[in-house]
Amino acid sequence: MHEFSTAVSIIEAVKRAAKDYGATKVTGITIQIGKLSMLNHDQLLFGLEIAAKDSIAEGAKITIEPLPIKIRCNRCATKSIVNKEGALYEVLSSLTCPKCKARDIDIIQGRECVVKDIQAVLDEEN
Ligand SMILES: [Zn+2]
Repeated sequence: MHEFSTAVSIIEAVKRAAKDYGATKVTGITIQIGKLSMLNHDQLLFGLEIAAKDSIAEGAKITIEPLPIKIRCNRCATKSIVNKEGALYEVLSSLTCPKCKARDIDIIQGRECVVKDIQAVLDEEN
């Protein structure tokens, strides 16, 4: 399950960051997920809860921020956000520049899966 291995690496990153900052408890995690990452948010949340169990991040409030697909046209350099719903291959095959209709575009956002923010209780002693 793609979501579960992703969840494990997210929690590992959170644990490392928490350790670096001398945190004693992680209370919140915000994750940005691009629409092209193919991650199911419910399954990811479920995986994160399991991965965080018995760790410093157990019980943290997890927020997922979906990132829309952003493209840049290679012909006219227009940047635009794609608001298309549907199967991934359909979305990908329909990506065109809204200004000049060129199909020669680069995807500049939408594949992300990053920890944007961590809320934690810091150990005052450090
Ligand atoms: Zn264009």
